[in-house]
Amino acid sequence: MNSLRAKERKELYDTEMDHPFVILPEEQAPEALQHCECCELSKQRTRVIWGEGNPKAKLMLILDNPGAREDREGNSFLCGTRETLQLGLREAGIDTNSVYVTYLLKCRPMRAYNKPEARTACLPHLQLQLLQKQPSVLFGFGNVVAEAIFPQKENASVKELRGNWHEFQGIPISFTYHPLAVRRRPNLLRFFVEDLKALKEKWKGRSTPHT
Ligand code: SF4
Repeated sequence: MNSLRAKERKELYDTEMDHPFVILPEEQAPEALQHCECCELSKQRTRVIWGEGNPKAKLMLILDNPGAREDREGNSFLCGTRETLQLGLREAGIDTNSVYVTYLLKCRPMRAYNKPEARTACLPHLQLQLLQKQPSVLFGFGNVVAEAIFPQKENASVKELRGNWHEFQGIPISFTYHPLAVRRRPNLLRFFVEDLKALKEKWKGRSTPHT
């Protein structure tokens, strides 16, 4: 990252000094899936990460895969993706207690793997979560999630899908940039926050403030 970007990023995150980022509580995977071996990521992961945040929240956010959760000493660690996600949520006025964050892939990749196979293998886990949790609104981050959710769409990219509402398993879904893309390119923050504000409006229209 060049010095200008580093400076911009520092200023951006310094504005959050009064509102420290938090490590959201992790939700354990259902017992039957804690040892899932449906794809080769089972040989790379430390554990299956089902999701984090409020497990009863009706606002479900979907990232591509879990990031680092512990540092080398085993202490809880807030990765850049989750930090930028929380920055966006706060800028949009969405309380972190109101969201449940999950992943397209429930295992953290540590090295190269067959991506299409892993995404196909893990999608049923996300579909199971939707059936169990019945969220009222879904929101995906980044092209990988968009492509996996809409494999039949020719241009299933964030650029094509953001700004409009679509449907997945009967639930409204929209998309924005991946938090890491926003972190690398601070000029995307404006669009990121704009999309999250639209999410807030949609969610408010479909549920009570505590759901
Ligand atoms: S990524 Fe998903 S399908 Fe693959 S092993 Fe992990 S939980 Fe199972």
